[in-house]
Amino acid sequence: MIIYMDYASTSPLRPEVVEAMAPFNGDNFGNASGGHRVSRYAKKALEDARDSIAESCGVESGEVFFTSGGTESDNIAVLGTLGAENKRRGEPTAVVCSAVEHPAVFETFRSVGAGRGLSVGSVAPQTRLAAVDGSGVVDLGSLEEVLDQGVVLVSVMLANNETGTIQPLSSIVDLVRRLAPDAVFHTDAVQGACYLDLASALSDVDVASISAHKLGGPKGVGAVVVRKGINVAPLFHGGGQERGLRSGTSNVAGAVGFASALSISQSVRESESTRVGLLRDRLVDEIKSSVPGVTESSDRSKVLPGHAHVRFQSVDREELVVLLDQAGVCVSAGSACSSGALEPSRVLTAMGVDKEDARGAIRFSLGHMTTAEDVERALAVIPEAVGRLRA
Ligand code: PLP
Repeated sequence: MIIYMDYASTSPLRPEVVEAMAPFNGDNFGNASGGHRVSRYAKKALEDARDSIAESCGVESGEVFFTSGGTESDNIAVLGTLGAENKRRGEPTAVVCSAVEHPAVFETFRSVGAGRGLSVGSVAPQTRLAAVDGSGVVDLGSLEEVLDQGVVLVSVMLANNETGTIQPLSSIVDLVRRLAPDAVFHTDAVQGACYLDLASALSDVDVASISAHKLGGPKGVGAVVVRKGINVAPLFHGGGQERGLRSGTSNVAGAVGFASALSISQSVRESESTRVGLLRDRLVDEIKSSVPGVTESSDRSKVLPGHAHVRFQSVDREELVVLLDQAGVCVSAGSACSSGALEPSRVLTAMGVDKEDARGAIRFSLGHMTTAEDVERALAVIPEAVGRLRA
């Protein structure tokens, strides 16, 4: 029996999504760019999916561009925006992101700071970081300090992948508009899109990234939303699909599944937030009462309903992941560490968590198929697993 508690990593396909995609993995296999009837079916399905995603996001269909997922959308958002800005205004002076961005944004900002994505001869912009508080929320004072008229791009995620912390986007955007009026504002909405009201969250942003597989949709498909009037240069050269922004034969089945997953998750988001939030609360409250030395990483009221990020004192997170896996419980060690398991997560470090404390950080993430029984089964094995590691 598998108890899957790693939805922030990826989620199982919703049955309705499997059904919606089936024809496009079968008889309706056409290339959406062709001129005959098989292509026309595919093209119609692709455009219907675009319309549906636009509606879920509260934007126009022409503002939705399909990509291969969150990573590509983030790269297009950052490098594509800078490419276009570069052409328009000459040398950009600074770009800003939060200290807790997903690597798809964070590492792209780092590479921009090292000169990537610029025209020959232009100077790399300074990459500036906005600090976060102990819950992982962007510190508005710190953001204020790094904003000025020379900032051409700001990126702050809607919700964090490790801790689930939700950012106060509208206050952040207000500050950016006031202090860096020419900056393009991007948000990585990959984690937030399942439980937050997307239309409202995206209403003030210029560019946004979404990915289907975090919502009960298929892997390998996502979208970058680019609001009218914002210039983004393509990263790939090719057939000119997606109105020139993202060349490559369209993933029609993926787009159809993505649209279905997003529309379902947005329509059930209030009831699911309550249901999943109660399961998460039961999980964390019981862990805290049955296991000594447990700290929640963020203020729960500021976190996505499916996320529980906790730190077990005197426990190695990798060992706990393995022990829980042996007991059938699938969780994550809180972050993908590119530089080795012993390094603490960059996100926790930014939140002021010290190395020793970060060692026992575990992310439980629940989702649309999680049941109360799953939670009780997990609770039946967690105290013993922690006890064994501390013995
Ligand atoms: N951004 C965030 C916040 C994420 O959590 C992820 C995936 O973990 C990504 C971007 C990358 O998305 P994808 O896996 O679709 O490339």
